[in-house]
Amino acid sequence: MATTVALISLGCAKNQVDAESMLGQLAQKGYQLTDDPAQAQVIIVNTCGFITSAKEESIETILDMARYKEEGVCRALIVTGCLAQRYAAQLEAEMPEADAILGIGHIDELEAVIHAVLEGERVTKNSRPYAFPAAPRVLSTAPRHAYLKIADGCDNRCSYCAIPLIRGGFVSRPIDDLLREARVLADQGISEIIPIAQDTTRYGLDLYGKPRLIDLMEGLSEIEGVKWIRPLYLYPDLVSMTLIDAMAQMQKVCNYLDLPIQHIDDTILRAMHRRGDGALIKDVIEKTRAAGDFALRTTLICGFPGETRAQFDALCQFITEYPFDRLGAFAYSQEEDTPAAQMDGQIRQGVKNARVNKIMALQRKISHELLQKRVGREYEVILEGRNPQGLLVGRSMYEAPDVDGAILVRGDAPLGQYARVRITQAQDYDLMGVIV
Ligand code: SF4
Repeated sequence: MATTVALISLGCAKNQVDAESMLGQLAQKGYQLTDDPAQAQVIIVNTCGFITSAKEESIETILDMARYKEEGVCRALIVTGCLAQRYAAQLEAEMPEADAILGIGHIDELEAVIHAVLEGERVTKNSRPYAFPAAPRVLSTAPRHAYLKIADGCDNRCSYCAIPLIRGGFVSRPIDDLLREARVLADQGISEIIPIAQDTTRYGLDLYGKPRLIDLMEGLSEIEGVKWIRPLYLYPDLVSMTLIDAMAQMQKVCNYLDLPIQHIDDTILRAMHRRGDGALIKDVIEKTRAAGDFALRTTLICGFPGETRAQFDALCQFITEYPFDRLGAFAYSQEEDTPAAQMDGQIRQGVKNARVNKIMALQRKISHELLQKRVGREYEVILEGRNPQGLLVGRSMYEAPDVDGAILVRGDAPLGQYARVRITQAQDYDLMGVIV
């Protein structure tokens, strides 16, 4: 009988793509996949190690899954992902529940490791750098969209970020490989391709000596069946007028700019080792708004070491003057081995949390006001599910999956289809609409 495997993936969409590749590899080898860990003989926890709260969630999930081993069905617990890469030795020493700890460069060895573990071995590997897995993926997203990981690692070295320590330098996937994978996805019915990387604006720089995100989007645009292309994680200093114009003009590229800026104060941005200053960020926003009807998304860090009350107030002022349609704020997390962790002026957790709450309270109003302007307009909406009240849950090209609000639609239509929807009402983060 085939061995049954359950995989729980935590963290970001980039980690999710790795999880889908692992599932693809196992499905190809005849393993039976299940969503229910209670039914699985092998449980894989694909961890996140980005910030303290993510690490804690990863550890809790490993311990939760270990209970299934005690109950008898599960015979092997395997830990993969960023936490396994970064803390392999500690996990090996302190978590006897884990039978294998497999870093990010060892994904293609997963099946051999499962065999070894089921034979009674304990395995720890984290020595190899990340390599893009070759197996086909088993998609775990809603039926019509898929993430396309165009690069991994990061060369930016933001002072608060542990990602380069975990995933190494920025490595792009060749454009032909990406277009081949996108064609396979389109043949499977995927109509929305979401290019992702730690920094998508740098795509191609390492391989081709110049950024080639525009070339990639052009290539993706030519694929039949692809309707929306939505690159995420654009770093402000490489969002040129050429890129904004290209995104505005390419029909299949969503009018959607995900621009994680982290802060607006120049002193804080310099301490964060971010390239570009507040003026550059404002310039990008102004140019994007002038180029077309774009939805803008960003993330902010509150309570970075040394952030004064005045600098925080300036951030609040900035988001009211330059409103983002979508915004996520996070309390600065003091990550070991990062330069910011050693900086003077560390801020108390209570203050950091209060600043996050203040930003999010402001954003709630801003979001509601911006969504209100969309009442009465009509959009093409992909219908992806139903909420507990029976309303259809969908998105237009102005909403990214997983991170943004949704369009809640009255009416009946098959899931996985696009429908023309008129917006009737705005909530704080979601819109209500009817099929027309
Ligand atoms: S751009 Fe900065 S925050 Fe993002 S992964 Fe790279 S170093 Fe980390």
